[in-house]
Amino acid sequence: MCSGSVKPWRAAAALLCLGLLVAVCLPPVRADAVERSRRGELKRVLILHSFGREFRPWSEYARDIKAELERKSPWPLDIQEHALLSARFNNPGPDAPFVEYLHSLYQGALPDIVLCIGAPAARFAQRYRAKLFPDTPLIHAVVEHRLVDRANLSSNDVVVAIRNDFLVAFENILQVLPDTKSVAVVVGASPLEKFWLEEVKRELKPLDQKIELVWYSDLAFDDILKRAANLPPHTALFWGLMSVDAAGVVHESDIALRSLHAVANAPIFSYAEPFFGDSTVGGPMHTIAETSSRTVSAAIGILGGAKPESISYEPIGFAAPRYDSRELQRWGISESRLPPGSAILFREPNIWQRYRWQMLMIVAIFLVQAGLISGLLHERRRRRFAEVESRQRLAELAHANRYSAVSEFTTSVAHELNQPLGSILTNAETAELILSTSSPDISEVRQILADIRRDDHRASEVIRRLRSILRKTPFEVKDIELNETVRETLGLVKAVADGRHIALTYVPVLADLHVRGDPVQLQQVILNLIINAMDAVSDANADKREVSVSTVRAGNQAEIRITDTGPGIAATDLAKVFDPFFTTKPQGMGMGLAIVKTIVEAHHGEIAAANHAAGGALFTIRLPIAQ
Ligand code: ADP
Repeated sequence: MCSGSVKPWRAAAALLCLGLLVAVCLPPVRADAVERSRRGELKRVLILHSFGREFRPWSEYARDIKAELERKSPWPLDIQEHALLSARFNNPGPDAPFVEYLHSLYQGALPDIVLCIGAPAARFAQRYRAKLFPDTPLIHAVVEHRLVDRANLSSNDVVVAIRNDFLVAFENILQVLPDTKSVAVVVGASPLEKFWLEEVKRELKPLDQKIELVWYSDLAFDDILKRAANLPPHTALFWGLMSVDAAGVVHESDIALRSLHAVANAPIFSYAEPFFGDSTVGGPMHTIAETSSRTVSAAIGILGGAKPESISYEPIGFAAPRYDSRELQRWGISESRLPPGSAILFREPNIWQRYRWQMLMIVAIFLVQAGLISGLLHERRRRRFAEVESRQRLAELAHANRYSAVSEFTTSVAHELNQPLGSILTNAETAELILSTSSPDISEVRQILADIRRDDHRASEVIRRLRSILRKTPFEVKDIELNETVRETLGLVKAVADGRHIALTYVPVLADLHVRGDPVQLQQVILNLIINAMDAVSDANADKREVSVSTVRAGNQAEIRITDTGPGIAATDLAKVFDPFFTTKPQGMGMGLAIVKTIVEAHHGEIAAANHAAGGALFTIRLPIAQ
């Protein structure tokens, strides 16, 4: 047996006990209430329920009607509620005890109005009104128009009827789930439910060819649950009413519906708002608000003196369709299938709505972070640009500086070129003389030609070195062997040193010194330092004119040392020699050492100037050894 079910005889006994209890414990009418009622202040309202006070859908209508009545009534209200219950049993007992109970309760102080909720209550009131409240106006609320007992309506009755349209309800199922092949209809076995079963069958005739209809009216509710849990695909359930099942078990309607929802493997449809919200998919349905507002306005009108016969309403049909978003999702029903004008309720709050503040914080942090990153990237790009630009400038400046350096020793270079060219000329003339003899010495001619070739090499080597140092190249980093670079530079200034009678010596470290750098710019560094050193020793005695270059490996650094035997650098100038435009020479520019320092630093190295204890200047360059 379902946990929500009650045996009919037990419920009937409980009802009687309750009636007796109320009759014994409550004074039928309080004297002050009667007095106020006589003065027209207090209005006495009797609400008569058909199926018990907690039986959906009527319970929801009654709750809303009562609340709205209390809210809108200009008079204080004394609302009494009674439930028939008998409509829920297949074989209810006689009405007489309940009629007697009501009669004794209201004898002498009749209600000002009786609100009947549902058809059974309305019929009961019509049947016993002569005995219970002969002149009291009756409102028949939430009664399907087919169940109104029109033959027994009096001028004291107002009908607020509803109209069930099962064809519309089933067409809604086919609209949202067009693949539906079969619909199982859940309906109980009480006389009222049997009436509706026949009505539904009759109304759905037009759908005979479209879908198979399965009726659960002859099943116990437990069996209905088992079937609903194992329905074939493309089946839907339609919730009619479950008051009493085929096994005679009475059910609280909403408990039964929730049990069905918990096990069903197919979507459940229905046609009344009170079933909507935790179990059914939705569609066109009766809404509580319209019935409630009509009932309350009729009641207030009558309590205020209006004649009931002057109030008449057309039955209320289904309102615009509503759907439960959770059920739509659960059964994969696309919102595009819903009819136009549908309302979708119970939307699950999305992550934005659920974690609004947290998400805003995350977005804010993300934006700040993105801003910082793009700022840093922009800054980095600008730095890169600046670096490239400064290297470009450096390359141009260095090139100009090389020109001026080289121009200083053009005479020596010319001299150096003249030497091999003069030798070539002399050797060529000698060869001609030998060849003009009757028996020329061919081996000697061969020797002369070899000398010519060697001199030509010497001359072209001078030109190659010059061209290489004067080349205008962008800053270019490659792997270079430092000893070789130093040797090449010395080759360039050797002739100058010779011309100035300066002893230029080179002591290379025995191992290879690989660094990463621009070979032309590093040559320029060495060249500038040697030229400065040669300038420094030029005024000294010929026997003291020495410039010495050496390379050393110190840990993971390569060192180039350039010393001379000149006067050295004044102590006060030591800190300034690398400053641009610092010079002590009458024709000096003061740019040589500034460029040297910039080039060395661009190679991640460092340069230092110092004086030897024995006299003369010492310049030390340190460059990182290539990995
Ligand atoms: P410039 O040679 O045009 O003067 P530099 O920047 O090459 O420009 O040199 C700056 C100054 O540093 C020189 O004028 C000189 O006073 C000093 N200096 C450079 N090298 C030496 C050296 N080997 N001995 C003495 N003084 C030097």
